[in-house]
Formats: sequence, structure tokens, C-alpha cells
Amino acid sequence: MITINENYLRLQASYLFSDIAKRVAKFQQDNPQTDVIKLGIGDVTKALPQAAITAFHKAVDEMADDASFRGYGPEQGYDFLREAIAKNDFQAREAEIAADEIFVSDGAKCDTGNFQELFSEEAVVAIPDPVYPVYLDTNVMAGRSGEFTNGRFENIVYLDCTKENGFVPDLPQEKVDLIYLCFPNNPTGSTISKEELKGWVDFAAENKALILFDAAYEGFIVDESLPHSIYEIEGAKKVAVEFRSFSKTAGFTGTRCAFTVVPKECLVYDKSGAEHSLHALWNRRHCTKFNGVSYPVQRAAEAIYSPEGQAQCKELAAFYRKNAETVLKTMSGLGYFCMGGINSPYIWIEAKGGSWQFFDMLLEKAGVVCTPGAGFGSCGEGYIRISSFNSYEKVVEAMERVEKTLQ
Ligand code: PLP
Repeated sequence: MITINENYLRLQASYLFSDIAKRVAKFQQDNPQTDVIKLGIGDVTKALPQAAITAFHKAVDEMADDASFRGYGPEQGYDFLREAIAKNDFQAREAEIAADEIFVSDGAKCDTGNFQELFSEEAVVAIPDPVYPVYLDTNVMAGRSGEFTNGRFENIVYLDCTKENGFVPDLPQEKVDLIYLCFPNNPTGSTISKEELKGWVDFAAENKALILFDAAYEGFIVDESLPHSIYEIEGAKKVAVEFRSFSKTAGFTGTRCAFTVVPKECLVYDKSGAEHSLHALWNRRHCTKFNGVSYPVQRAAEAIYSPEGQAQCKELAAFYRKNAETVLKTMSGLGYFCMGGINSPYIWIEAKGGSWQFFDMLLEKAGVVCTPGAGFGSCGEGYIRISSFNSYEKVVEAMERVEKTLQ
């Protein structure tokens, strides 16, 4: 008899985006004359930067010729991309990361989801609330949680992110082993200062814990005082892994390319307390289960680091930032407490009521779709998330409609 991994039965069905889709479909059916504006899902809307497209085409042509064709590439990624990443994303910011500490992959979703499998089932996991759901669900699948009661899983240490702490969690009071952090944050748009991040790095070092730092939205940072990478913090290379993605910063959500940084000096432990290299473990896992990102996609990603590519990505971020500013200005002008929207494409808004109530009101009265904060965790109740990924014209129109509705 084939038996299942019963941890999967503990998972809470994620109704968030399907519930949203159902409510939107019903509204559209009942109100066919309303042009619904979607500011819910965090998917980019603008085309790939021209530098990436040119490199992509050229690489596809190389694949059409026996002389330049490439078969399987290195699982960790081609040197040309790993070197461009190390130089531009890290060494340029005085974060001494070497090319061979970078593992190119097809997404930060897969990497943030898969990384936990290197650790024991007993590892105590600390996860922010609200949160990008992948961190929690993959740990539940692996058996690190107990039952789901009163909206939370037993045995998971939740790090509450609230208005009071500026949506930057406080250090845990108990001992934890694996800590997930994401800045700039999805869904709250909050950021972390170097001093606050140093607190986490020191905590991890004192507790022999590991930080999994998700920097998928790093490209939206404009405040020069904020860290782009955890490796800008002294001591982080010993206790942290960093996830990055080309999805939001270069429009690669449908093209798929990301990377994970595992420093060689990062140590983890077996039950006897003996030290092991995390880099060696992840390398083993990556080579066994992953066969690399396609050559043309890696060439397209490399082109992001050319001077033209960098300028075009800055333009993309500026485009979405203008949308975010429009949302922020409207909502705070209407007297709503807002977080994010400056160093982040997301605006987190206190709803003055239930998340779903506010969602329904914006949909029914303004024809605008947002995401109810409650879908990201119990601390998200009472908030909504508005995403800046749409055209400027649509964002302006959405905010005009919201203004009329809420005034
Ligand atoms: N990490 C966070 C915080 C995200 O919000 C997302 C996507 O929405 C991802 C990772 C996934 O990135 P990728 O497209 O590289 O899988």
C-alpha cells in the first residue's frame, strides 16, 4: 500500500487567490459594464528590458548552430552569470561574495521552498506573520509543525509584524534554529535598517541559528541607508543565506531566473555538534535535484548587468515606483495608515475594519481589486495589500475611483 506524507494533510488550503478570483468573476458577471482594475497579484506587467531581449535572441541563435550549441550546463550556473552577479550585486557594495558562492536557479520560490530540506525535522523554525506563504507551507510539508489550531500551527515560532514594531519583527524570546526574513517585505513593504539586521545576525551567531534572507525586492530600494544584501552586515557570511530573483527587478516572472548565495564560511551542525559546510550540502542537493537554468535565459540575465541593462532595470523600478507613490499619496491623503510603497512595490494599508470587508467594498464600489492582508497570516487581518504592478493610467484611474468611494 502506498501511503502518503501525512504532513500534507495539515496544510491549510490556500484559498486566497482563488477566493479573490471567484469574487472578481462574480462581480464582473453582475456588473459587465465595469472595467475592473486589478492591483492584487504581485506580477509584473512591463516587457523585459531591451538588453535582456537582445542577449536572449543572440543566445537562441547560438543554439541553432552545431558550432555554438550548448547542452547541459553547470548545475550551479554558467561562470559568466555567477561572476556578473558576484561583482555587481555584492562586491560593488563591499559584500565579499565570490562567484562560486552563487547558485543560479529558476526561482526564489523554489529555492526558499527547498532550502529547508537540508535541516532536521526537529529544527525550530521562526517565520514572520504576515508572510510570503512558501516559507511556512514547505516547513509544514517537511513535518516541522504540529496541528493547525486557532489560525496558527503548533511548534512554529511566529514573528509578529505589527504597526507597533513597524512590521519588523522583534528578536525571538526562545531559541530557534532557522529564521526566515524578507526585506523589502512582501506583503507589508517594510524595510530593515543595517542596525536592526545586525541584531538578527548577532542573534543567529549566539544561537548557532541560520537566517534565510529573502531579498527578492532588493531592486526597489531607493533609500541609500538601507542594506541591499545581508552580507553588508558584519558576520552575516557565517550565519545567513540570501535569495535573490530577477522576477520583479528585471521582469523575469515568466522567463524564470534567480539565485541563492551560500557563503563558504557558513557552518551548520550535526546532532553531535560537529560542524558541516552549508555550501557543500546545498551544492550536493542542487546537483542532485536540479539541472540548471537554460543557456539563453542565463545570457538574458547576464545582460541585466551591462550598463544598458542596469539603466533599463532602474527605469522599470522607477515606473512601478511612480505607481506606488500614486497609491501611497491617495491612501494616506484619505487618512489611511500606509506602510511600504517607497522602497517596495507594495503598499500595506490599514483597512479600518476587516481585510475581506475592505476588499469587497473596494471591488463593489470602485471596481478595484486588492489583496486582503488576512490571507498572509493572522497579523495581516485588518490590512490590505495594493500592488503597483499595472499601467500608470490604470493606477491613476483606480485611485480616482477609490478616492470617490472613500471620501
Ligand atoms: N520571494 C518573495 C518574497 C516573493 O514575493 C516572490 C514572488 O512573489 C518570490 C520570492 C518568488 O520569486 P520567483 O519568481 O523568483 O520564484
